[in-house]
Amino acid sequence: MSTAQPHVPDVSIEDRLYTVKYRDAGESHLGVKNPDVCVDCTTNECMQVCPAAVWTVEEDSDGVPSIAYENCLECGTCRFGCPYDNVEWEYPKTGGGVVFKQG
Ligand code: SF4
Ligand code: SF4
Repeated sequence: MSTAQPHVPDVSIEDRLYTVKYRDAGESHLGVKNPDVCVDCTTNECMQVCPAAVWTVEEDSDGVPSIAYENCLECGTCRFGCPYDNVEWEYPKTGGGVVFKQG
């Protein structure tokens, strides 16, 4: 059996994300269940685990993340990454959401 590794092109995450298209469903399919929990959260795992930089907690904010839902890849990682089970997550409304050009 061959042990040759497949050739993987050296493409940056930003360039890969640029190939993703999103149909805006008109409202966010992501949120937080209880903003007060985010205020007390010091680790912001939602930011750490998201591959698409959807979650942002600004230095000078109250600690509640802003959510750029239109960048979401619908991988679901943030649901499990939040240690307080504080992520509200559902698929975008029918017809909305991520469109992967290459399947
Ligand atoms: S969603 Fe979870 S991980 Fe993110 S700031 Fe709120 S409590 Fe912390
Ligand atoms: S589902 Fe994935 S891409 Fe979307 S916000 Fe959560 S971690 Fe980020």
